[in-house]
Amino acid sequence: MEYRIAKGVFDILPHDPDTKGRWRSSAYWHYVEKQIHEIAREFGFSEIRTPLFESTELFTRSIGATSDIVTKEMYTFFDKANRSLTLRPEGTAPVMRSLIEKKLCTQQKVYYLYSMFRYERQQAGRYRQHHQFGIEAVGNASPYQDAEGIILLYTLLTRLGLKNLTLHLNSIGDSIDRNAYRTALQNFLKPYFKCLSVESQARFETNPLRILDSKDSRDIEITQNAPFILEFLRDETKSHFETVCALLKNEGVYFNVNPKLVRGLDYYNRTVFEITSEHLGAQNALGGGGRYDGLIKDLGGPDTPAFGFGAGLERIIQAMLAQGAYLPEEGILQLYMIPLGEKAFAPSFHLLNQLRNQHIVAQMDFSEKKLKSAMKFANQIKAQYVVVIGEEELKTGKISLKNMKTGENKEVSIDQLVETMKHV
Ligand code: AMP
Repeated sequence: MEYRIAKGVFDILPHDPDTKGRWRSSAYWHYVEKQIHEIAREFGFSEIRTPLFESTELFTRSIGATSDIVTKEMYTFFDKANRSLTLRPEGTAPVMRSLIEKKLCTQQKVYYLYSMFRYERQQAGRYRQHHQFGIEAVGNASPYQDAEGIILLYTLLTRLGLKNLTLHLNSIGDSIDRNAYRTALQNFLKPYFKCLSVESQARFETNPLRILDSKDSRDIEITQNAPFILEFLRDETKSHFETVCALLKNEGVYFNVNPKLVRGLDYYNRTVFEITSEHLGAQNALGGGGRYDGLIKDLGGPDTPAFGFGAGLERIIQAMLAQGAYLPEEGILQLYMIPLGEKAFAPSFHLLNQLRNQHIVAQMDFSEKKLKSAMKFANQIKAQYVVVIGEEELKTGKISLKNMKTGENKEVSIDQLVETMKHV
């Protein structure tokens, strides 16, 4: 039996031999993850890690019973005690569950970086296990909080060298604004009901706002002249949105107000945003989020406002490669040691550990290769320096340190190798 990887998922490898799979190189992931941890720290966010699965009810309640995720995409299973559990399809609900449970809902700024699971139809840019960096800022209703979150993601993507980004911004108001808008939108759509896609017809009663972000060409045409939610914002929600816009403008973060942006999850209110890249295909969203002031109360916690976003690492790395942004190749190997003859192994191994104790990246050939093939291998793994340690070297205490780039050899005493390597 030949085992194959499950559908819709992928391995992250040291090097993927498939050139189209370069984005799956672990060195790139390390680099992007490092930048994420760094920027989160700079913006005052601390890491949170929640379990891979939660009770199913947490997701149906928070994401919304009519959302795509809940209706089609959840990996749900029953444990041995017949509890319904679900692999997390998104990050916000688990984090809220944790903060509520630990009574930490006052002024928390947390971030996460881990896998999500969605049973998606297979297509480019959509995987059944994908990775998200997300933030959740809890306990602050200020528009400054919205601006801070958006600027964080925008700055991260810019630092990673991404260009041609579009920041789509909208406000979907609060529940009073939305109820008024919902009625107006339904009134507008009613005469076209029969021409809407089947999916949008189903959403007409349950979630008509989602019809605005339908990808179906008939729906797009019909909604072109639909009323915009921004016209339904009352003074307070309107001024919140205007402040967010002004703050972003002031920081040189350019955006498009996109009145059709509603996002797929039910818990959002007020500010919603999405950042897209020109360099991805149909699945062009790198990340998005917004304010969700009602969610914590809805999940049984205190009435606490919050703002957050989630961004996908697969798409970020793919966009970086498509644009030729800097991505480091695999880790550098500073020194490769080739012991020749049985007697050379133990002293070489001791030296290897001394080098590593001084943080020199070193490897040793354990496989008793012939000198020629060991040198060839050193070349292949891109060693910067090579030393050969044979009986002669052990007798004289001198070795020749070969610079693989220039081909130069430098004589060094074995006792001085660690010190020399620290300064090359
Ligand atoms: P969402 O929670 O759907 O708003 O997703 C947040 C971000 O995660 C998106 O903007 C994408 O970058 C990424 N994402 C969502 N679903 C997938 C998926 N199935 N495969 C790859 N990336 C995804």
